[in-house]
Amino acid sequence: MELLIATHNTHKIEEIQNIIGPDHTVKSLADYDLYDEIIEDGNTFEENALIKAKYCFEKTGIPSLGDDSGMVVEALGGRPGIYSARYAGNHDFDKNIDKVLREMDGEKNRRACFTTVLCFYNGKEYYFHGEMWGKILNTKTGEHGFGYDPVFVPEGENITYAEMSLEDKNKISHRKKAIENFLDYNRIFKIW
Ligand code: IMP
Repeated sequence: MELLIATHNTHKIEEIQNIIGPDHTVKSLADYDLYDEIIEDGNTFEENALIKAKYCFEKTGIPSLGDDSGMVVEALGGRPGIYSARYAGNHDFDKNIDKVLREMDGEKNRRACFTTVLCFYNGKEYYFHGEMWGKILNTKTGEHGFGYDPVFVPEGENITYAEMSLEDKNKISHRKKAIENFLDYNRIFKIW
């Protein structure tokens, strides 16, 4: 069975293919020559994930998975949330982290959560969630990963996501949990 993932990000495709295993083929937008920018103008992670999944399904007729992720900071009332990628500068990871750290300056409550919402769409929509709680440091540590990884220490660990190898991060990540929830559901209800 094929599954189209609404992304051009080859790391995401690889990560999802690894979790799903060799019995199924994971395809990216590039495999179907889909290069339009998908406008993510939803107000929630769910709405954005649906926009992406529906776009793919309507273009190809292949069951599709859209994902939307972000970091939700308790002391910031949930920001940056759905604005994580463009909080200060579009996909400018350093600027985005610096803005969060500035806003958290002097704040004692460092709790934050990475969230992934997956929408599986095959004419009907299904949602799957994955979360990883942790805390925000005051400074960046570590070289791996992307986004807010250098300031995020997951619960139960004493190093940041950016200090972990990609392999180790992917074993525990919010994205991994969401994909596993999708696979668990599918094992029972065979939506795919
Ligand atoms: P996306 O929806 O997966 O593209 O994620 C949107 C934004 O959320 C990214 O640009 C990052 O800023 C942030 N983000 C999502 N997942 C992670 C992660 O695993 N580590 C660090 N930042 C992340």
